[in-house]
Amino acid sequence: MASILVVAELRDGKHRSVNFELFTAARQLGAELGHTPVALLIGSGLDDAAEAVGAWGVETAVVVDDPKVAGHSADAVAAAIADVARQKAAAIILGGATVLGKDHLARAAQLLGTSIAQECTGWRVDGDAVIFKRPLYGGKIYANVRFTASPAVATVRSKAVKAEEQSVSVNIEKASLDLPEPRVPVTGADITQSETIDVTEADLIVSGGRGLKGPENWGVLKDLADAMGATLGCSRPVSDEGWRPHDEHIGQTGKTVSPTLYVACGISGAIQHLAGMSSSKYIVAINKDEEAPIFKVADYGIVGDLFEVIPAMTKEIRKIKADD
Ligand code: FAD
Repeated sequence: MASILVVAELRDGKHRSVNFELFTAARQLGAELGHTPVALLIGSGLDDAAEAVGAWGVETAVVVDDPKVAGHSADAVAAAIADVARQKAAAIILGGATVLGKDHLARAAQLLGTSIAQECTGWRVDGDAVIFKRPLYGGKIYANVRFTASPAVATVRSKAVKAEEQSVSVNIEKASLDLPEPRVPVTGADITQSETIDVTEADLIVSGGRGLKGPENWGVLKDLADAMGATLGCSRPVSDEGWRPHDEHIGQTGKTVSPTLYVACGISGAIQHLAGMSSSKYIVAINKDEEAPIFKVADYGIVGDLFEVIPAMTKEIRKIKADD
């Protein structure tokens, strides 16, 4: 039977939340197409993570634990994905539209002689094929793409699917593969430890732009984020200037986010920024310029000086939470 292979992304041996969405998607697509969902986990010390896929309705977990894939060496990881895809007769390969997911799956698609649909936000089954929906031109239009080669390889944006648990028992298979020596082996990594969850996984984001004037003013934004329980994000000039770390940069050249609520503070709403956040469920914009393009995508807009508006919002939110 053909399979739907989900390439799980793990951090310190734990699943990233997009994996649960992908397992759910593979299960739903599998039920429609008659394919079996299979999870692929690459790395060491992944027994618990392999076992965990059973909570999401996936009955088979393939684990590739090989020194050649250490540090996510991209060509070895891609070869592992391609080998397992062949062994499991994958008709579809899914991964998260993350930095690593987009890189590894594109390379695997090339090794398999097929193509890739990146950053998919939806799909529908048409006969025995899947038509994937993906944004083009920074989200200005959405293309529906059908694969003429097999397997269909797609990366899926975080929160495109609602993760739904379904408990099954898992059969864990340890794959032994003949992987190539990585051409650029990763010999070590300096990992930035973030205190908050990644913007791509956050449900609430408070994001700041050049309107904040400088890094010394970020306390205003952080107070609001803390009161809401939100994660901080920023526009590109803010991270380019070094006011905030690059992992908070949202947009075409940064991260794509789809939170329930995105609060844009002092952000003009350039197309390159919108490309990364316009799929947020609700957008609140605070800007002193009533003509700012961000108001065109905002569900709620506040025209005013953010240095007055944000502290007032923070105060009200704290009051509401204290009364709860
Ligand atoms: P600005 O455009 O300077 O806007 C600041 C806003 O703050 C203004 O609207 C102003 O009215 C408001 N403001 C000022 N003071 C206050 C105040 N006291 N109270 C309230 N409002 C105030 N940008 C991204 O963000 N992400 C990307 O991934 C990205 N990729 C790019 C890729 C390319 C190839 C290019 C060419 C550009 C890219 N950019 C990206 C840059 C983008 O074009 C914009 O320049 C950038 O998004 C603007 O950032 P900003 O909104 O913070 O600043």
